[in-house]
Parts: sequence; structure tokens; C-alpha cells
Amino acid sequence: MSEARYTMGLGFRISNLGLPLRSSGYMAECYFCKNQIQEINWKDVETIQRFLSTGAKIQPRKKTGLCAKHQRKLSKAIKRARIMGLLPFTTR
Ligand SMILES: [Zn+2]
Repeated sequence: MSEARYTMGLGFRISNLGLPLRSSGYMAECYFCKNQIQEINWKDVETIQRFLSTGAKIQPRKKTGLCAKHQRKLSKAIKRARIMGLLPFTTR
């Protein structure tokens, strides 16, 4: 009883593998793991850009669906690209 309420409070359902499901019901796969990209190149603006919001902010992991490793590398790549002038810091 108390266990069921606790699961509900977390806001996501648990799959039969014991992993959390996305709100849409499927398990999202990390884009870079799927395409077997180990290192994210900051010069690859086209790839990086899709993980930016309209305000040129880095989107949270909840939205990007990336794994912890690649989200970390992505944020570093974006910050590097921003300094090099390839990506904007903000858009008004
Ligand atoms: Zn990944």
C-alpha cells in the first residue's frame, strides 16, 4: 500500500526492467549512444544545435533524453562552441 503511493509520488511509471519510463510511455534512448558517438565534437554545430532550446539554452536531460555521460559531454561541447562563437549564448 505505502509502496504503491510512493511509486505514484515519483511521477513516472516503472517498466518491467525496473527502469523509469518516459512520460510518453516508451524508454528514450540516448541520441549519441544510439549513433555510437563517443566524443561530441564542438565543431559539429548542426548536431549540438538540436539540443538547444529556442532561447539558445541547453535543454535539460528530461527533454534531450541523453544519458548522464553524454549530457555532460554535450554541455561541455556547447560551452566550448559558444566561446568559439559558433553558438549564441542567448537569443532575444
Ligand atoms: Zn549516451
